[in-house]
Amino acid sequence: MQELFTREKGLERKILIVDDEYIEREMLAAMLSDLYDVSYSENGEDALVFIKENKYTLSLVILDLHMPKLDGYSLLKIIRSDAQLRRIPVVVLTSEKGSEVECLQMGAADFITKPYEAPDIVRARVGRAIELAEDSIIIHETERDSLTKLFNKEFFFEYGKRLDRQRDNSPMDAVVVDINRFRIVNALYGRSYGDEVLKKIGNALHDFVNNVGGLACRSGSNSFDIYIPHYDDLEEKIKGFFSKLEQSTKENKVTVRVGICLDEGQPSEMVEKFDRARLACHKLSSGYTNCLGFYDSKIQNREIYEERLIKDMDTAIEEHQFKVYFQPKYNITAEVPRLTSAEALVRWFHPELGMISPGDFISVFENNGLIQKLDRFVWSETAKQIKQWKQKYGKSIPVSVNVSRVDIFEPKLEEILLDIVKGNSLSTGELLLEITESAYTDDSMQIVEKVSSLRNKGFKIEMDDFGCGYSSLNMLTALPIDALKLDMKFIRNIETNPKDYSLVCIMTEIAKLLNVPVIAEGVETKGQVDLLKKAGCDIIQGYYFSKPLPTKEFDALIDKIKSEDI
Ligand code: C2E
Ligand code: CA
Ligand code: CA
Repeated sequence: MQELFTREKGLERKILIVDDEYIEREMLAAMLSDLYDVSYSENGEDALVFIKENKYTLSLVILDLHMPKLDGYSLLKIIRSDAQLRRIPVVVLTSEKGSEVECLQMGAADFITKPYEAPDIVRARVGRAIELAEDSIIIHETERDSLTKLFNKEFFFEYGKRLDRQRDNSPMDAVVVDINRFRIVNALYGRSYGDEVLKKIGNALHDFVNNVGGLACRSGSNSFDIYIPHYDDLEEKIKGFFSKLEQSTKENKVTVRVGICLDEGQPSEMVEKFDRARLACHKLSSGYTNCLGFYDSKIQNREIYEERLIKDMDTAIEEHQFKVYFQPKYNITAEVPRLTSAEALVRWFHPELGMISPGDFISVFENNGLIQKLDRFVWSETAKQIKQWKQKYGKSIPVSVNVSRVDIFEPKLEEILLDIVKGNSLSTGELLLEITESAYTDDSMQIVEKVSSLRNKGFKIEMDDFGCGYSSLNMLTALPIDALKLDMKFIRNIETNPKDYSLVCIMTEIAKLLNVPVIAEGVETKGQVDLLKKAGCDIIQGYYFSKPLPTKEFDALIDKIKSEDI
């Protein structure tokens, strides 16, 4: 046991013996000096000077209570109340019965009674006090985030639960703080700058929690959680925090968004409250100002609705509640527009909730991976339909399907698509793939590789929602694509807003540069068609020609075209 506390010669731990009696000092030194680097002080004042000078290296103080100048009680009080000295354990020397308890209450680590017990006991007590203090520093470091010194997530939830128990579950509010566009801050100014920002926000939160009570932690690379007693005026308090944050981060140009779940008496676990606060936070857009949002009944209802959709998804696939609609795409380069292809768009006919549009469920399914199952269903249904049209009309109508960003990370994507195509005796060129532009910015190298490989197999790739992502011009030239699909928000106002029209012209120019056709979607009026034609757009999809149609109506459309051709 003793070996635990010994160190090599020259590296011994430093301890200070403070006692005005020469004999006492010498006796202790005799017991300890072969294990430790021992120093002495004769009174409290000298001791304090020594302790301050050696605050980073001193491992322990052995303190007599009765001394001239500054007595042991007062010195102990000073050490315990000083943030920098507090970590140094103090073992008190005492001959009075009863003073032990008082000293332990004042924060002494242990006591040694006079006259001294056997040297082994003294050594063990000293060694133990040092070990405990060092352990508690290690614990402190493991439970804290090294950069901000706030708790890390695991300890935060552990201590939060303890706090709940201590406070007999009196109301506690959960608050989530996210730094807006932190990734960009890091990318633009470098990591050490980002670290500074994190530290400043961490400090501001530390002060906030010190003020209002509770706990704070760093819960992610750009996010913080705080758990605080419930306040009716929390919004005001957070605004106070905003103004303090603004002062400290003025030149850093960063803003935060804050999501709050108020504890309004309903029983709920800490973790649950934070899930809700996080949801409220994510609903806020990452703008250029600080903002806050509460978890409310609207978010709750949406959450319940989404849960329902997730729960019902499997049955819906089994019972064919999902139907694939087809929206025709027309080539407008010739005098008369000509039906060339279509886009497959899914609809959900829910037995109780009625028709649900994809805008309501696609992102929900993307968040939990269910989208892969749905997309496979849509791809197979589409391939079957292409095959049927081919058999019925003796002509292939290529159809594009949406490939979610989640699908792209599926290692077997190529295999799955090839199986579907071959299973319906189609060529890869008949099933077009729409991939949204923003997917390319997620992990561009991996996506470029995947997409190149699909193209090598003969699939044609259309870049969907072009203009909404962040492709740079030089990245575009490297991207493997066969068509650009302009996002409909650029089309909406081209008749009234010349700037929007110029943008469309620029984007068609880019497509020409890349040598790929341009598809415009969301086209609703004759005026838009004319302008798009003038801008050099090749293909048009939109209500002007047709809404997405169920198979039967799409059949009727082909029949009509065929009869007009004849
Ligand atoms: P998207 O791929 O950009 O599809 C175009 C959306 O615009 C469709 O909405 C379509 O119905 C709508 N639209 C077409 N023409 C017009 C028009 O003239 N005016 C207006 N206002 N809207 C028009 P929809 O069907 O609600 O689909 C929304 C989004 O859901 C799609 O956007 C696509 O991102 C996604 N989506 C749809 N089906 C699938 C699918 O099977 N798989 C995946 N992963 N996503 C899908
Ligand atoms: Ca699409
Ligand atoms: Ca689109």
